[in-house]
Amino acid sequence: MKTTPFNIKQLVRENVKELKPYSSARDEYVSDGSKMVFLDANENPFENGVNRYPDPQQRSLKQVLSDQNEVATANILLGNGSDEVLDLIFRAFCEPKVDNVVTLPPTYGMYKVLANINNVEEKEVLLTKSFQPDVEQILETINQNTKIIFLCSPNNPTGNSFSEENIVRILENFNGLIVIDEAYIDFSEKESWLTKVDKYPNLLVTQTLSKAYGLAGIRLGACYASTEVINILNKIKPPYNVNELTQQRALARVLHQDQVKNEISKILQERKKLFQILKEISFVQEVYQSDANFILAKVDDANKRYTQLLDMGIVIRNRTTQPLCENTLRFTIGTLTENEKLITTLKKIEN
Ligand SMILES: *Cc1c(COP(=O)(O)O)cnc(C)c1O
Repeated sequence: MKTTPFNIKQLVRENVKELKPYSSARDEYVSDGSKMVFLDANENPFENGVNRYPDPQQRSLKQVLSDQNEVATANILLGNGSDEVLDLIFRAFCEPKVDNVVTLPPTYGMYKVLANINNVEEKEVLLTKSFQPDVEQILETINQNTKIIFLCSPNNPTGNSFSEENIVRILENFNGLIVIDEAYIDFSEKESWLTKVDKYPNLLVTQTLSKAYGLAGIRLGACYASTEVINILNKIKPPYNVNELTQQRALARVLHQDQVKNEISKILQERKKLFQILKEISFVQEVYQSDANFILAKVDDANKRYTQLLDMGIVIRNRTTQPLCENTLRFTIGTLTENEKLITTLKKIEN
């Protein structure tokens, strides 16, 4: 257990602690449909739908997310994709060349990319053979300068979720921040950790509209955390980081939960089907259980099978160079037609 209580002030970079957030024109007054005359932001006054700066706090969108997820709007930060959100977390808490973060390969590549861009050391602790966090090893690896541990659950590219027990052990034994990346949570039966941000002051949960919500093109990511953490991230975010078109499209989509649920259920049905069929393909040696919208499978020769599929017009992801993923391929679940084409092609290249 922790020997000292969690203290967010010890984690924030010194320069960020001193910062006052930039106050933009739209921070001071936001149009709420009232008849105010806005001559404060040097905008073009002729209405075309996007001639005004967007709401820097995305109030309407946050309110819906707040209602749907039963967390206060003060516990939400939105960004230009979760990639921006993750970058803000690095920039707020990690002192370049001094601090370090821990990632658990095989996992999402952006944690390492962002660590490198921010000149922050990345320590890697491999997942266990069953793709679970190696808690003992993680606790041995962390030191005074470890600011963040990234847990991707369901994990990309393995598809599995991390056990509650493992996550709780890390949360309770580490005094830095734990980021749980839930990009694929909507495809899982497991509950989101976002409702636990009240219980664990060191927990940050990131989500995205890029996967289950079908909005990868608009770039909208979210971070759920304590108000202390959110306030710090708000200090350093670019004022208009979520553009007006994105806010509008995101709002329309989150209000249509029926459509989203319907697409998710079709994808899950297809995942179940593809899982069974992959197991019957002669060159497939293992198919891993997935809580996401993709399936990882071990084959006889990943490079060979990858090229064969490519030659026949099917693009998948070859994960063979990732640790613990030798000869694995990652298949995203497509539409029924796309999956049928994949299946026919897999059968063609069997011999
Ligand atoms: C796809 C993915 C994301 C999405 O990032 P966005 O910037 O929101 O599109 C985040 N985390 C993981 C693990 C992913 O696989």
